[in-house]
Amino acid sequence: MDRHDDQIVVRIEGLRKEFNGVQVLKGVDLSIRAGEVAFIIGPSGGGKSTLLRCMNFLETPTGGTIKFRGEALCHEENGSIRIKPESAIRQARAKMPMVFQHFNLFNHRNVLQNVIEGPVRVLKQDREKAIGEAQEILRSLGLSAEMEKYPAQLSGGQKQRVAIARALAMDPEVILFDEPTSALDPELVSGVLETIRVLAQKGRTMVVVSHEMGFARSLADQVYFVADGVVRESGPPDHLFNNPQTDQLKRFMSSIL
Ligand code: ADP
Ligand code: MG
Repeated sequence: MDRHDDQIVVRIEGLRKEFNGVQVLKGVDLSIRAGEVAFIIGPSGGGKSTLLRCMNFLETPTGGTIKFRGEALCHEENGSIRIKPESAIRQARAKMPMVFQHFNLFNHRNVLQNVIEGPVRVLKQDREKAIGEAQEILRSLGLSAEMEKYPAQLSGGQKQRVAIARALAMDPEVILFDEPTSALDPELVSGVLETIRVLAQKGRTMVVVSHEMGFARSLADQVYFVADGVVRESGPPDHLFNNPQTDQLKRFMSSIL
């Protein structure tokens, strides 16, 4: 590792994923540095969710390298992919939790139970300690009054903030967001974006798939435009949005404005 590299939390090289013989990711390269907010944008079906899901092995990559904190979780050897044992993958996944479009809360558990589930079961934290920390996180996200409620009693915005609390409870190295506001009623979007913005200001490392271009422009350190299974363009938001190089990015930008 050179000096530059110890800042890199996740490094992806030549990542490939195929489903039933169809190449969905065709060789993706990207690096996420500590404290950085990376946005992934691009057309529907271009592979954004697959990329996030491969990063924490909710999907198993077909080829390429994923390094987490310098450790290769998968790599290629003699033309086939080698993946670390499940225990190592589970540990890494715990440190890069994902916030989903549809929240994915446990509906039969209340808010507090949802938030302590990972710390208690995966991190083997003491239950009382986990409860104390969960309460603190929920308070910081304005959810003090919701701790005993069940997901069905919450608004979409509150559900998504519970999902964010659940990610934070893992003491994550990086949080992955897959279109966190796209299932929300319009009036609930800004509250969730604001929560993500505050996390960015606190120096959280985050990867955000989002169609909120104004949000990306104001918050991103790096933007990756993913289309047809590759990173077509990347760079700081001002550069990328002011000087799109490919017709694909130009078309994408005009389609969502
Ligand atoms: P995006 O998030 O950019 O909209 P996705 O990563 O969800 O794109 O999907 C990329 C492509 O991979 C799509 O053509 C999609 O149908 C396909 N795909 C995604 N997940 C699966 C799966 N589990 N099985 C088969 N095909 C899949
Ligand atoms: Mg998607």
